[in-house]
Amino acid sequence: MAKVGFIGLGNMGGPMAANLVKAGHQVTVFDLNEEVVNQLVEQGAHSASKVSDTCTDADFVISMLPAGKHVRSIYTGEDGLINYLSKSALVIDCSTIDAESAQFVGKELANAGVSFVDAPVSGGVAGAAAGTLTFIVGGRDEDFAKAHTVLKDMGKNIYHAGDIGAGQVAKICNNMLLSILMAGTSEALQMGVDHGLDPKVLSEIMLNSSGRNWTLEVYNPCPNVLDNVPSSNEYKPGFMVDLMAKDLGLAMQAAQQTNSATPMGALAKNLYNLMQNQGKGAEDFSAIFKLFSEKS
Ligand code: NAD
Repeated sequence: MAKVGFIGLGNMGGPMAANLVKAGHQVTVFDLNEEVVNQLVEQGAHSASKVSDTCTDADFVISMLPAGKHVRSIYTGEDGLINYLSKSALVIDCSTIDAESAQFVGKELANAGVSFVDAPVSGGVAGAAAGTLTFIVGGRDEDFAKAHTVLKDMGKNIYHAGDIGAGQVAKICNNMLLSILMAGTSEALQMGVDHGLDPKVLSEIMLNSSGRNWTLEVYNPCPNVLDNVPSSNEYKPGFMVDLMAKDLGLAMQAAQQTNSATPMGALAKNLYNLMQNQGKGAEDFSAIFKLFSEKS
């Protein structure tokens, strides 16, 4: 059993913290939203009256926050946690943020003698609730090993991508590819439908041919090909267009830093931005199918 401070109890952080409580860890939680704090307290967590109270004697401090600016501010901003963390604590940031922010926070904490890993997740809200998330960790070997103590109680697969920031890079590489596959699968399915093919039959053919991919197999974007996927439930998320657009923004930022050519990723980002401009930001990211299927 470990003493854990947990900051950011939203759609992802709430169920992740609840799984740590269930596993028997002593969890002290903080969020700006009192309602979500109370929900965790009902499940057995302790509430911190101020964010720095999450650090008191903590073996681990975990954060699950919206963006890099929040993570920088919590740890290294004015009166940041850097002033309160014990040198034996390990900080695990699970938010999806830019690798540069993760590296900045990691460096500042290291200067103060505190260890840090970035550990963004894949698996969404359902994975967070079921405790089956995939963690993609960046950091030193010994910190990666130590992080297992708590990550194993929130997830199923735990990968070591490299040094601090590498977790974030691997995560956005994956999501950039996912967006490209979702867009490509959508346009291929719709072209078949336009030619009178049954999308179920076409999906089955492509699943057993070289076009096979994850979106076709378990997250088909064409309504009523698969049960229990967002496309068969009016594109209710799932994984929102807004979150995919955020991740593609991070991917483009990363590509810029290394002068990497990412033409397909750039096109996918533009398509997702177009969906946001059409007011579809809160729909599931598989709703990109409608860009091809809706005809006036
Ligand atoms: P969310 O908006 O539901 O939750 C964020 C929480 O952080 C909120 O409860 C908010 O009150 C809290 N918060 C913000 N600033 C704070 C501060 N200064 N101090 C304390 N609490 C603060 O977001 P989410 O869906 O839980 O996503 C969290 C992170 O996980 C994001 O980086 C997101 O990109 C990533 N992610 C989300 C999903 C998903 O499917 N939702 C999947 C993978 C990764």
